[in-house]
Amino acid sequence: MKNRILARELPEKLGETVVVAGWLHRLRDMAKFGFAIVRDRSGLVQVVLTAEQLEQLKGLQVETVLKVTGEVVKKQSKDPNAKEVEIQATLLEILSPVKDVVPVEVNKDDVDVQLDTLLDNRVVTLRHPKQRAIFRVQAALVHGFRQFMEGQGFTEIFFPVLAGAASEGGAEFFRVEYYGREATLTQSAQLYKQITMGVYEGVYGVSYSFRAEKFATSRHLTEFNQLEFEVGFVESMEDVMAYGESATRAMLTAVEAECQPELELLGVTLPPLGERFPRITLQEALEIYKEGTGIDETSEPDLSPSAEKWLSTVWAPREHGTGFLFITHYPETKRPFYVALDPEDPSLTLSFDLIGFGSEIVSGGMRINRYDEQIARIKAKGLKPEEFEDYLMMHKYGIPPEGGWGMGLQRLTQNVLGLANIKEATIFPRDVQRLRP
Ligand code: ATP
Ligand code: MG
Repeated sequence: MKNRILARELPEKLGETVVVAGWLHRLRDMAKFGFAIVRDRSGLVQVVLTAEQLEQLKGLQVETVLKVTGEVVKKQSKDPNAKEVEIQATLLEILSPVKDVVPVEVNKDDVDVQLDTLLDNRVVTLRHPKQRAIFRVQAALVHGFRQFMEGQGFTEIFFPVLAGAASEGGAEFFRVEYYGREATLTQSAQLYKQITMGVYEGVYGVSYSFRAEKFATSRHLTEFNQLEFEVGFVESMEDVMAYGESATRAMLTAVEAECQPELELLGVTLPPLGERFPRITLQEALEIYKEGTGIDETSEPDLSPSAEKWLSTVWAPREHGTGFLFITHYPETKRPFYVALDPEDPSLTLSFDLIGFGSEIVSGGMRINRYDEQIARIKAKGLKPEEFEDYLMMHKYGIPPEGGWGMGLQRLTQNVLGLANIKEATIFPRDVQRLRP
């Protein structure tokens, strides 16, 4: 729209005649004149309307789309130093009249409804400034990730989502009817990440993962995104973690730089980053958890959700000034066939999780890059090498020592913003019940 000015830019336009456009957020009818609060993507602006202009809005509801031409003036205020401005409308145009009452109010401080109602009415509830802010933060996280990876000279890859029948097996795959045969939706981009790493050395991408999770939890979706990278010619798992830590820092720095208004609106202070994310083995983590809480899970092969929570919200902030920590060396039984074994103890793997402010947000590790080793490992896992022909082709023809990671985007957003349910951090969530909107 020609000459359109955003609400946020108006204070610089004091005294000028401008055009603003947006949604009717609220209307106050004082009979002889009125106030329309107009919402655009940058914020809210108050427009002073004449009686005739109020008449134009008769019978119309909030969310009507408007275009206003008028002069930017100082807002009437008892405080002479107040900098807020408003618009004295000279022309009001209705771009899209709304005659129905919105199903959920989006002009109060909060959208005060149950999560299911919020999501059922997503088309409208997403317009609420706080809802909208969540996905601006999410976009900044992705932006920070892309910027960092580009800075490292990595190549962005667009991974496929449809694949042939699952050779890893498992009940967590979604099956799709595909020209009379069965296809699946990818659970992870692992194969393609490794293949392309074997060409570009460093690759990254935003992938889609589909998992037929059996239980509805506050941390699991059936469709989610991962911020992935894979990097070759590394010398140790530490190299992979170092890339990951720097990427995470860059992402949170991007949020800090790009999303101050959103963070303020959401009342969020970002988790502290500290000097360095601690790295501890799973065994050490379980010992620390036992010592700190008296809860003994030392014979478990994994961290429980409450251990993840305590370690990342109590222990790491207290001991290391950060809300993040790497847990390394998961048992081989808990990790997929492509993860490298620890040469010092082959019952363990060269793998890690990054726990971030409450729960696991990343899994990563070193991969098996030698052909014979990979075949032996597939067999040891009870799988059939014949079914991994495409995968093994890269090992057969040479890939360097390498590793990588996958970070759950919605999980990260949830944790960074302290949201109770991952669905709040998902713009159009899919779960066991939900496939709409
Ligand atoms: P979890 O133990 O939390 O179920 P996972 O170990 O099965 O996760 P990975 O295969 O390691 O999952 O996936 C990498 C990342 O993707 C996880 O660290 C997490 O951030 C995210 N993630 C995994 N499963 C889901 C899901 N169902 N919904 C949303 N995010 C997920
Ligand atoms: Mg994991």
